Amino acid sequence: MELVNPATGEPIGDVPLASVEEADAAIERAATAFETWRDVAPADRGRLLRAFAARIEAHADELAALEVRNSGHPIGNARWEAGNAAAVVDYYSAAPERLCGRQIPVAGGVDVTFHEPLGVVGIIVPWNFPMPIASWGFAPALAAGNTVVLKPAELTPLTALRLGELARDAGLPEHVFTVLPGAGPVVGQRFVTHPAVRKVCFTGSTTVGRQIMAGCAEQVKRVTLELGGKSANIVFADADVAAAAAAAPMSFCDNTGQDCCARTRILVQRGAYEPFLAALADALAAVRVGDPGAPDTQVGPLISAAHRDRVRSYVDGAEVLLRGAAPEGPGFWYPPTVLAGGAGTDRAWREEIFGPVASVLPFDTEADAIRLANDTAYGLSGSIWTRDLGRALRVSRGVRAGNLSVNSHSSVRYSTPFGGFGSSGLGRELGPDALAGFTETKNVFLAER
Ligand code: NAD
Repeated sequence: MELVNPATGEPIGDVPLASVEEADAAIERAATAFETWRDVAPADRGRLLRAFAARIEAHADELAALEVRNSGHPIGNARWEAGNAAAVVDYYSAAPERLCGRQIPVAGGVDVTFHEPLGVVGIIVPWNFPMPIASWGFAPALAAGNTVVLKPAELTPLTALRLGELARDAGLPEHVFTVLPGAGPVVGQRFVTHPAVRKVCFTGSTTVGRQIMAGCAEQVKRVTLELGGKSANIVFADADVAAAAAAAPMSFCDNTGQDCCARTRILVQRGAYEPFLAALADALAAVRVGDPGAPDTQVGPLISAAHRDRVRSYVDGAEVLLRGAAPEGPGFWYPPTVLAGGAGTDRAWREEIFGPVASVLPFDTEADAIRLANDTAYGLSGSIWTRDLGRALRVSRGVRAGNLSVNSHSSVRYSTPFGGFGSSGLGRELGPDALAGFTETKNVFLAER
């Protein structure tokens, strides 16, 4: 696979893609390694993960520079992403010693539960957040005693490969954590069909997620899906409208909009619509799109030329209300853009664009806002801007989405659960309960005689 720097369009090197036979060999080695990894004492597993986290932290600048080249992420974002991967591993390093079962009162003996690891976990990662999304899967999986084979996205394998090396340097035994670049329908699909893989974690498009879930059903294989989104940003007239407008651009332009949590349907209460739009115009014009290596850049290029064509196809023919700036020339640039929101069958209003493009639509009542926010197959995230606490609670409970924030566009936190309703996915990652997704509960009754 030839890799390209999205900011310049220049090739930056090649990475070989694994064959089905190579995928089989990696899975089988991981299955063998599982037999010993599962029995490593909890404190030792924790120590190894802490050493791994420290390695990531120590190499954060190097990892960030790789991500700037391979993914075009602004350097500030890329440093955060490397730090997030380190923090996630650090957070779950405490888990092996806290993976407590229960003792349940029963007659005639003692009843206890154990959280048993599953075996080999296959993790399929997309290109939009190569380091964080990888770590959200592999850190809790390893902590719970599983071994992992991870397939990065074809376009962005470099940081994952480096994380694999850092794991070995930190002392994780061979084949406990394998990074295997490959094509989705080859290596990713083999995770679905190989019987030794007992769980698949997938992040990516809803179309592929559906296929993976259907494939996993054949072997009643565990699956976690983190899919797309079309999240609402609801601004009530009683809110700090200036603050809401100032924050809106980066809620759909961060990572060039290639973010499943992007707030791409902006709903503004009619009384605040005009002042909001005027302030949004200023905020959008101030977004700094440009060289990802420059420390003050906020938004870089899109991932590929093909993806830019796809993003553009949503804007062509739509009513453009606002447009920011983007560099001309080589690289896959696209300006931040705000469209007039539609309802009904408007593609830009209904489908995930995955670029720096949002639509804005006025609404009248609280009930209208909830109805419009829920008029989507997705349900991943969203924001509510209001000064009324009761309304904040009512609307938070009314919107069907897994991750909401009030008076902010909070990003994903490793210590809180993350996942979607409806077509946005299945299961939850991160937070204290993620281990449940990587273990089976075993109940044992010991008779009193
Ligand atoms: P994709 O779903 O095709 O790819 C995501 C990952 O799945 C990649 O690692 C890919 O190799 C793998 N994959 C692809 N086909 C597979 C298969 N048949 N079996 C197993 N694994 C397979 O996504 P994409 O083509 O990279 O992006 C298309 C759209 O998906 C985007 O424009 C966006 O709307 C959405 N997307 C969402 C997220 C997210 O974070 N939820 C991430 C990436 C893409």
